[in-house]
Amino acid sequence: MERFKGYVLDLDGTIYRGPYLMPGAREVVAELRKRGCKIVFLSNKAIQTRVDYAEKLTRLGIPATPEDVINSSLVTVDYLRREQPDARLYIIGEPPLIKEALNAGLRLARQPEETDIVVVSFDRTFHYGKLRFAYNAIMKGARIIATNADRTCPVEGGEELPDAASIIAALKALTDKEPELILGKPSPRVLEMATSRMGLKPSECLMVGDRLETDIVMGKAAGMKTALVLTGVTRREQLEASDVKPDYVLDSVAELIEGA
Ligand SMILES: [Mg+2]
Repeated sequence: MERFKGYVLDLDGTIYRGPYLMPGAREVVAELRKRGCKIVFLSNKAIQTRVDYAEKLTRLGIPATPEDVINSSLVTVDYLRREQPDARLYIIGEPPLIKEALNAGLRLARQPEETDIVVVSFDRTFHYGKLRFAYNAIMKGARIIATNADRTCPVEGGEELPDAASIIAALKALTDKEPELILGKPSPRVLEMATSRMGLKPSECLMVGDRLETDIVMGKAAGMKTALVLTGVTRREQLEASDVKPDYVLDSVAELIEGA
């Protein structure tokens, strides 16, 4: 396997599954860092803060700071801060996303009438009142943007839950409108942020992940080489049936350094 200056490593299904580290993940990250490679960790989940991810990685033996982590709430908030700093937001999401938005100086709407943008994310506290607020805001002209549109979200313990896709579908059924933008994976903004963090060109980086439709599609679109790991959601039969062909297929992340 070629050597790269930068590695973008997906978390769930690649570095860990729920509370368990993938075999070899710790050694791989340590070895890549020893070689002077830059590393960024990616998650599409907006239900934990980057501080939580960094703490979890550190606890599992992979020292990390919040700056090493990019998740869909960060990409969404970064977009809103740069492109829509004065918009009043209604956020369907959990406290970490709302906290990230408030920390960035973004403003929340108090009434549907004053809402410029409805931000849709995974929200395990979604209820009728939130649906009604969002419906009224959208019917009065609010735009919709989403942190991600994943169908399932692996949570701590390995359990899979319906993700933002279920809430996007509920809003579409009511308003016939869909998000104008989806800012997490596979949006190109995710890897733009990753390469600018690392100070590298896409061609100098490898995108490593377990999902063809998000990790691999996104890496290819960004001009990176891609590696699919088979420790997550993708089975070898699915890979063979898919048009999406990664540059490398690895039994696990450990193979990033094997034989090198
Ligand atoms: Mg994954």
